[in-house]
Amino acid sequence: MNKIIVFLVCILVILCAIILGSIIYEKNITGQIAEINETNEIQVSEKVTDECVDEYMQMQTQENAIDANSSDEIKLSPNCSLIIKTHYLDCDHTSNQYTILPEKLVNKTEEDFKKEYSDYNIEEFTANEVIISKNVDSECGEHYIVRTVDGNLTVFRLVNGIEELYEKTEISTEYMTETDKIQFENGLKVYGKENLSLLLEDFE
Ligand SMILES: [Zn+2]
Repeated sequence: MNKIIVFLVCILVILCAIILGSIIYEKNITGQIAEINETNEIQVSEKVTDECVDEYMQMQTQENAIDANSSDEIKLSPNCSLIIKTHYLDCDHTSNQYTILPEKLVNKTEEDFKKEYSDYNIEEFTANEVIISKNVDSECGEHYIVRTVDGNLTVFRLVNGIEELYEKTEISTEYMTETDKIQFENGLKVYGKENLSLLLEDFE
């Protein structure tokens, strides 16, 4: 009887051990599988990110390429205005000349334009407005001196420091105030055609 009981207990213990062992084994396997799955997922997600970045970079490069092309592709419209700025270094004056684009440059690109105006800096280049500028090593030519010559006001223009006769007027200094007489005897400097006209009108 005792032998049978011992035998049964032994079998029970062995069974328990097998069941326990298989449970632990299964757990390990599932754990490993889960781990493997997780790493795969990370790899996949990393890969996706890389692809996204690559695609984004490609798109950026394409956009840049398009941008570069489009700026080269600006073509001047027939109504384009051309503003030419000339800076005279000797007197520090700047004259702005407002013109319409010459017909031969209509529909041309910046490259074509540069060939025609190689002396100038391009400050702005759009289809409807181009601004160019250059420095000139002289005076602007808008400097005048009004003097009394033979009793009448006479206008001289300063060209590189030399006075050139510009206009003889019929305006007599005879009845002017002493102050005016003296200033015209010494020569009165005037800048700009408009100011010159205004001055002469005052004494007519
Ligand atoms: Zn000037």
